[in-house]
Amino acid sequence: MDRGDLFVISAPSGAGKSTLCGILVDRLPGLVFSVSHTTRPPRKGEKHGRDYFFVSEEEFERLAAGDVFLEWARVHGHFYGTSREHVMELLSRGTDVILDIDVQGAAQVREKFPGAVTIFVLPPSWKVLEERLMARGSEDMETVKTRLRNALKEMEEVAAYDYTIVNDRLQEAVDDLISIVSSTRCRTPRVLAGLSDMAALHPSPDSWFLV
Ligand code: 5GP
Repeated sequence: MDRGDLFVISAPSGAGKSTLCGILVDRLPGLVFSVSHTTRPPRKGEKHGRDYFFVSEEEFERLAAGDVFLEWARVHGHFYGTSREHVMELLSRGTDVILDIDVQGAAQVREKFPGAVTIFVLPPSWKVLEERLMARGSEDMETVKTRLRNALKEMEEVAAYDYTIVNDRLQEAVDDLISIVSSTRCRTPRVLAGLSDMAALHPSPDSWFLV
């Protein structure tokens, strides 16, 4: 049976993860971004169903109680969760799925999917992280401070990830991400499972190489 791979990408806000994920799914056919549910209000330009499913706290609690989420966590004072059904359906169709989730969510996914490939994105420096968060302009100072405090805690978890990408030059970071996905797709069990006709790899009895 075809089965896609599950990729998890985490980073402190401002590391450039959303931009990276967007470019990655555009560049790699067969890789799909999982749209999370959140209780955070939409930012300017964000669309319901494309960036997030924006729901009320009551709705989120109802979904969590119904075991709808593969993982969920409270991040920066809001709830975020990944729909289990959506992810499982994509994986079973052989589609690769990327989850852009925080370190708490990544720990839950690691428990449930030991085969998940986990990637952490680091900013090139603390100063750059501060500048990127301030430049966003969509949040007040208190929110920026909360995100910076959380960034410190999140970066302590980097050692638990399979791969780390320093997002200094965007193009290089994208190339690194593509390499990670490409090499995962070349893993022997996956390639062999995907070969529909293993017999095609065996020599025919009258192969002239063998006579
Ligand atoms: P933002 O509000 O900036 O879009 O996201 C804030 C944080 O929530 C980011 O670290 C992002 O990766 C994380 N996040 C987004 N969706 C999910 C999710 O479904 N589950 C978890 N655990 N974290 C999420």
